[in-house]
Amino acid sequence: MLKVLPKIAKMQASYALGKPLALPMNLTISVSYRCNSRCKTCNVWQRPNDDFTLEEYEKTFESVGRAAYWFTFSGGEPTLRKDLPEMVEAAYRHCRPGVINIPTNGIQDKIIPERVERVLQAAPGSEVIINLSLDGVGVKHDIVRGVKGNFERAMRTYAGLKALKGRYKNFTLGVHTVISNFNVDEFENIYAFVRDELKPDSFISEIAEERVELDTVGMGITPPIQKYQPVIERLQEGIHKAEFGDVTRITPRITQAFRDRYYDIVKRTLVEKRQIIPCLAGVASAQIAPNGDVWTCCIRAESVGNLRQHNYDFKSVWTTPKADELRHSIKAGECYCPLANASYTNMLCHIPTAASVAIDVARGTVAAALSPGNHGKSAKIRNLPVNQ
Ligand code: SF4
Repeated sequence: MLKVLPKIAKMQASYALGKPLALPMNLTISVSYRCNSRCKTCNVWQRPNDDFTLEEYEKTFESVGRAAYWFTFSGGEPTLRKDLPEMVEAAYRHCRPGVINIPTNGIQDKIIPERVERVLQAAPGSEVIINLSLDGVGVKHDIVRGVKGNFERAMRTYAGLKALKGRYKNFTLGVHTVISNFNVDEFENIYAFVRDELKPDSFISEIAEERVELDTVGMGITPPIQKYQPVIERLQEGIHKAEFGDVTRITPRITQAFRDRYYDIVKRTLVEKRQIIPCLAGVASAQIAPNGDVWTCCIRAESVGNLRQHNYDFKSVWTTPKADELRHSIKAGECYCPLANASYTNMLCHIPTAASVAIDVARGTVAAALSPGNHGKSAKIRNLPVNQ
């Protein structure tokens, strides 16, 4: 984590100036829109395919260099790409990310564990987080995801991934649930199943958002705050009770403390309909679409330039007039959203939030030392420090 402190300072200075002094520290690479799920909350699989080749990623990652610390390989379903391990290897060789995050629907149960094992071998010095998508238990999952037998296959994939846990110290196995109008009433059931049966290292949840990227704008998939608030509060209760992950270790404790703040921000974003803390998308975080378009974030999904037209030079795309225009718009608060990916870098770059996490973690560490049975559990819900 100490490695990111100089990067955070550069991100803060870039945001203040409205000009990038460095490339983003958080990069999402959408490797393909192809997907074998047919989710009620996502139409990305219908988008045309014009995917980057491995060679194109190689050149792009070389241009990014050591700037990015967090990499997410998303999709579509990223494990459909046979060359996913080679892409990760290229990112590792050029960029040495501290964290690599990959979601999966778990459908290809005979292929995914082996492909993930090759990913783990390709990036031995990175923390590799694989998040299995789970939007229901049993047939309810299949209905939301639109694939018969998906739940059983996902469970077989999960078992295959769990078997890798003992062999790879750089592996974190998580579960990710998108809460939509289709499953919000089932959340307690999902939560209990994940906690008692799957026992992952982490459990994260996001509200279903209507996104340009996913072609879901106007679909009415987002649950009302009255229904989503109890979900968030249950997730926060789980954090305070340390129901997931080994919070005797410092890194999971920091992660959980940030997650707790993230849920605070989500609640307030949905109610107040504004950026609760400054959004540094376009400065600290960015996304590369499968065809090489570079976006400040996947919610706005507005291209600032295409890597193919800039000789795969990320800096050249990142410094276009369109990129400056979007940075200006974001800083002016012309958009808001609870996107988790951008929010984590936003929190890290927001001094009051980062400081409150540091205090919380320090308190938990002291409490664990004084009372070993406490295991570093967070003591209480606190007020979120925000810029008004
Ligand atoms: S607030 Fe949301 S929509 Fe606006 S730039 Fe940030 S991540 Fe994108």
